Amino acid sequence: MENNDNIAPSQNIHFCPSCKSENIQKLSLAYMSGASKTKGVGIGAGMGGGVGLGVGVGMASNQTLLSSMVAPPKISSPFAMALLIWALIMMAGVFAILIEISNDTLTFVLMTVLLFASLWCASKFYHWIDSGNKAKTKEYNKKYICFRCSNIFELAQ
Ligand SMILES: [Zn+2]
Repeated sequence: MENNDNIAPSQNIHFCPSCKSENIQKLSLAYMSGASKTKGVGIGAGMGGGVGLGVGVGMASNQTLLSSMVAPPKISSPFAMALLIWALIMMAGVFAILIEISNDTLTFVLMTVLLFASLWCASKFYHWIDSGNKAKTKEYNKKYICFRCSNIFELAQ
């Protein structure tokens, strides 16, 4: 009720497509206000790069349910993922070269090529993850939640 104060007047012309209620809010704003009220409920892995670390939410109050519904998408750290890819390629490549090649010069050349190739792959991968994250965040920022029927929707611009 008191939350209606921070909804800009221009937003009031929008309404929920399912129940026509005007009591809607941007997911990101709903999440921020909800998250500040429910301290201690860890949601999402954040920027640390831990993928899919499910944090046990002990209590199932409406507030925590709401926070989980409006939580931003889990994104993986592009740097951590790129580093992982780089390490895997390097390990596999070095292993293969050491097993297959006995010529020192050729080994050196292949190692150099491997280093650049793996860095190139890692940087491609970094940009791929990064743009995926940006797309997810952009999608999320377009979404609204209806506080009356809990419908989550995108407003037609
Ligand atoms: Zn609704």
